[in-house]
Amino acid sequence: LKIKEAEFIISAVKPEQYPVDNLPEVAMAGRSNVGKSSMINKLCNRRHLARTSSTPGKTQTLNFYQINKAYYIVDLPGYGYASVSKTLRAGWGPMMENYLRNRPQLRGVIQLVDIRHPPSKDDIAMYEWLTHFQIATAVIATKSDKISRGQHGKHVKVIRQTLNVPKEVPILTFSSETGEGKEDVLDLLGYLWGT
Ligand code: GDP
Repeated sequence: LKIKEAEFIISAVKPEQYPVDNLPEVAMAGRSNVGKSSMINKLCNRRHLARTSSTPGKTQTLNFYQINKAYYIVDLPGYGYASVSKTLRAGWGPMMENYLRNRPQLRGVIQLVDIRHPPSKDDIAMYEWLTHFQIATAVIATKSDKISRGQHGKHVKVIRQTLNVPKEVPILTFSSETGEGKEDVLDLLGYLWGT
């Protein structure tokens, strides 16, 4: 897949604001600071399409980016700033849960985790939540430039075991700094969108 055009459409605070053009959507989930905005920018070859290092966990907005006038990337609110107990009590936020459970256009979720660290309790809870609701979920280990190539396999293995990702589901590595993994992530997006 090649991204020729990427356009920010809306930062939605309520479902009435979601696009109604019925294009296939892939949502991106991950802890605040995992590198989600940087990845969206890198994939789209745009430096400031998605806002990086924004104040975390403040507003529950869903950001819709229209790609090639045919698909959407949906940037979900970063999680993990509230304590785990608070997160469990409050859920992921009614808006995000409602979107993930009731959006016919949603083709899958890409969950980002930091390659350097074992997935957090929130990462595990998110992955379990997505699989529980039978949402197609792929995992990407971000910031792969932060560890040497020779260490990638070992870290990916820890991520796979901690999240309990079945062996037929690939875990991709990606770096917004070097572009490592970009083609694979674009292929994954194309696959999920159904190109
Ligand atoms: P978000 O909160 O998930 O959207 O994370 P951001 O994209 O804002 O990134 C958080 C921080 O990590 C920023 O300081 C980025 O420059 C840095 N960062 C993001 N991706 C990478 C990466 O692939 N490699 C490195 N070295 N730093 C990254």
